[in-house]
Parts: sequence; structure tokens; C-alpha cells
Amino acid sequence: MQLYSTNNKYLRVSFKEAVFNSMPQDKGLYMPVEIPQLDADFIGNIEKYSLPEIAYKIASTLLKDEIPAEDLKALIEDAINFEAPAVKLDDNTFVLELFHGPSLAFKDFGARFMSRVMAYFLKDGEQLLDVLVATSGDTGGAVALGFLGVPNTRVTILYPEGKVSPIQELQLTTNAENIRAVQVKGTFDDCQALVKQAFADEELNAKFRLTSANSINISRLIPQTFYYFNTYAQLKKQGLNDVIFSVPSGNFGNIGAGLLAYKLGLPVKQFIAATNINDTVPRFLESGIYETKPSTQTYSNAMDVGAPSNWVRIMDLFNGDVDTLKKVVTSYRFNDEETLAGIKEIDSKFDYVACPHTAIAYLAIEKFREENPDDESAAVFLSTAHACKFPDIFPKEIAAKIKIPEQVKALESKPQHADKLNVDFEGFKNYLLKG
Ligand SMILES: *Cc1c(COP(=O)(O)O)cnc(C)c1O
Repeated sequence: MQLYSTNNKYLRVSFKEAVFNSMPQDKGLYMPVEIPQLDADFIGNIEKYSLPEIAYKIASTLLKDEIPAEDLKALIEDAINFEAPAVKLDDNTFVLELFHGPSLAFKDFGARFMSRVMAYFLKDGEQLLDVLVATSGDTGGAVALGFLGVPNTRVTILYPEGKVSPIQELQLTTNAENIRAVQVKGTFDDCQALVKQAFADEELNAKFRLTSANSINISRLIPQTFYYFNTYAQLKKQGLNDVIFSVPSGNFGNIGAGLLAYKLGLPVKQFIAATNINDTVPRFLESGIYETKPSTQTYSNAMDVGAPSNWVRIMDLFNGDVDTLKKVVTSYRFNDEETLAGIKEIDSKFDYVACPHTAIAYLAIEKFREENPDDESAAVFLSTAHACKFPDIFPKEIAAKIKIPEQVKALESKPQHADKLNVDFEGFKNYLLKG
């Protein structure tokens, strides 16, 4: 597999290089030079395959011989070791539960696959890989649990004090082993700035092999295509062939993976990009003007993104042709009041508790159906996280219905530890240098 930069079509790097560097020097994003079509026979019989089998087929088609077949199979079986069920709510409405991994969010797909790909490429005796991440909540948990116990790696996670939910904090602070949690007296932006400064620091780079586990890493995007195919397989098994997906979107990595799946040959009728009031993309699709904004805090805080980093990838998938893109992608925005009403509606209609991000994807399906009354496709909205990660949002009677998963209960009895730092780069640097 060869990759180019969205800022330089002529650049060529290997998959391994793109995995360890995340981003090209020119600040573009890596994209596959070639997007092969999956064979029609595979798509025609997809309902006969399991999630790991589907994942292997896609990964091997994209990666070609970057990782030998048996190694890739083993890697996938280890990384994608949980289910992604499309739960039926009514005859043609499904919620795709992507929260059955260790951190209870869809980011487990990307983080687990990436950690194992990195570990695979790290040869015995090579220098320890130091992963630095800043998190506002979900990314940190997925990366921590994704790398936990992975040989030859060490992860340092910076998170803002008092700004992550209790379960998110437990996922960051109860790991020990090769995972360090650092609580920063500041905001997520401060954490991100500290990490960025560390990547630019000569002394740190001379001493450590630093890498970011950033969501723009191509090895996080690829495994997110797996569940789109697997969902299509689940629906096809039930005789449903026309499928639309509604994706709660922030940095647009998740829907970007859906569109990559589409380009690989997945027959999807429509994608809906559902956002909160951080609505750069819906505004762009309405007006043709791409204008980023500073982000505004909402109930669906994992989608509080004013400059979605993966949007350039999506534009590249469509060769910059906005009219073609608009035939495949519709986008709607919803505010907090609507989000809360959506949570209540899903609860009363289906007796189902959806996290605020998931509720926005549901609302987008309702809106799409209102605008397209003749469309009878089965609609799947992606549930990107378990409701228990956002306990403060729900009205009491709905919060009472949330079942806390066993793996969370297990965390509650573990010792917690976070190192504490101020927003001060010299302090952070000394912390890292001490090792
Ligand atoms: C990260 C996240 C999103 C946004 O996904 P993108 O790939 O950034 O669009 C949505 N919901 C939850 C719960 C998340 O953690």
C-alpha cells in the first residue's frame, strides 16, 4: 500500500511510515494512492462472513503485502475482539452499537488496530515507542486501553482536570503498566499545546522515539471501515439491501471511513453527517463556503470540533467534486435542546437509552425521512459511545435505566493514579525526561 499527502499528490510513503508519522511534513493527511474495488462475489455473499473475516478481507485488499496474511489475521483477531451489533428498533431503523470495546466508544476500533499495527512494526530490540496524546475524554480511554500491555510501547496521556466524566477518568487512571495519566490544571487546548510542543522539542526527540496516536493516523481510519461492511452484512441477512447510515460527526474520521468503504465498493444509498451546532460541514454543504470556527461546548462534547481534521480526506475521495459528494452525503445540525428531546424520544419510542452523540444521529434520520418521504431504505444510526460515559446529560428517570457495564465496575475497585502538572512546558518536559 502506498500513500500520498492530501497536500502533495506526488509524495509516496509506505504504510509503515504513515503509521509512525501520522502526518506528512507538509501538514496534509495520508491517503491511499489506490482504492481497490472489493470483488463483487465478496459483496454478494457478505452475509456469510463474520466481522473478523470481513475485516481481514478489507485490510488485506487495502494493505496488500505490507503485513503477511497470517500475521494480519492474528492482529485483527486480537484487535477486533468485540461485537458491533446492529440492534433493530423497528422494521427499518437500526442502532449500530459501536461501544462494546474496552473503552465503551467506537474509538476502540481505531485505537486497538493502530496499537497492534505499531507493535507489529516495532522489531525486537528497537527503541521503546513513546506515544503522547492529549484527550478531552474518549480518545484517551481508547488509546490507553488499546495500548495497555502492548510490548515495547509506553503511553503518556494528558487530560484536563475536572473536564472528563468519572468513567472516562477511571479509564485513564487505573491502568498502570505502560500507561501514564497526567492531569493538567488547564483545558484540553492546553493539553494539546503541551503535546505539540513536545513533538517539536529537539532534546525530547533526540532522547525518545515519539509518536502521536492522533485520530488522523491512517491506521485508525482503516479499521473503522470494517463495521460499515459488517452492518451491511447484518442487514442483508434480514433481506434489507438499501441502507443509509447516519454518523454523529466531529472530526469526520468515522464518516470518512464510511465513505472509504463506499469507495471500496460498499453499496450504501446515502450517508448523513450529523453534527451539533459546531456545524462547519452542514454550512459548507448548504452554502459552498468552507469556513471553520472556534468550537462551542455542547452536550455531545466529543463532536465539539470547529475545524474537522478529516474533511480534506473526504474531499479527496470525491476529487474535490462537491456536487457528486452532495449526492452521497447529506448533513444536518442539532442544538442541545434538540439533543435532549432526541434522547427522550428514543427512550419513549423504543425504550432505548442513547448517548447524546447517538441521539443526534437519530434526529438526523428523522429529518432525512421528513425530507425524503418516498425513501424506504433501512436506516442505521451509529451509536458511538455507551450512555454511561455522559451521566450528567440525562434526566433522572432515563439516567436510572443506564446499565453500567461489568468492565466499568471492575475499574472502580482498582487503584487510581494520575501525575499532576501545571500548564508549563518546562515542567512537562522535565517530567518526560525523568522517564
Ligand atoms: C470521537 C467521537 C465522535 C466523533 O467522531 P469523529 O470521527 O471525530 O467524527 C462522536 N461520538 C463520540 C462518542 C466520540 O467519542
